[in-house]
Amino acid sequence: MAPAAAPYGLQGLRFDCGRLCLDLVATAEPVERLDAPRRLRAWLLGAGIVPPGTPLDAVDAGWLARFQAARDLLLRVVHAEVDGRAAESDLQRVNALAATAPPAPHAVRGADGLLVRTLAGAPDCGALLGQVARDAVELLTDPEARGQLRRCAGESCSLVYLDTSRGRRRRWCSSEVCGNRERVARHRRRASDAQEMKR
Ligand SMILES: [Zn+2]
Repeated sequence: MAPAAAPYGLQGLRFDCGRLCLDLVATAEPVERLDAPRRLRAWLLGAGIVPPGTPLDAVDAGWLARFQAARDLLLRVVHAEVDGRAAESDLQRVNALAATAPPAPHAVRGADGLLVRTLAGAPDCGALLGQVARDAVELLTDPEARGQLRRCAGESCSLVYLDTSRGRRRRWCSSEVCGNRERVARHRRRASDAQEMKR
């Protein structure tokens, strides 16, 4: 299989939206990426929400359904807040998810003597969802971070990311994907205009 185009990494997942909750929302773009428990395991590790090496055998179809539902809820809320206001009932759902405490991190001594992060126990689905929901609450209630929320200018892309670039002029979720697509389209338009002129 050919390597996925940047920024899509292993299993077609990407982690470049600038926030944990936005990276979860991004799993719905451009097609459903959370379509199997193995993909959810890869997302949990890739997002760094669980430390490398965390046993994720418990991740099953039940986890997948809960993460998809939370993702769809966060997608609605984030997009609604970018455009205006999220529904009160949706905010209450996010708050309910955020009420569960995230998993407790533990510092343990690794074989090389350095401290490494582990989880106190086996990861719990509700606790991990709580961590993502808390990130969303913090993001949406932080005026500075909210001011950096952008929707991608790509024609067929509605990804929301945090623009932390200098001068706040980032237009694309990814210059490799949407930026490049736009450059190619512009080039094609120019080439066909030049053809027209010759006629
Ligand atoms: Zn995009």
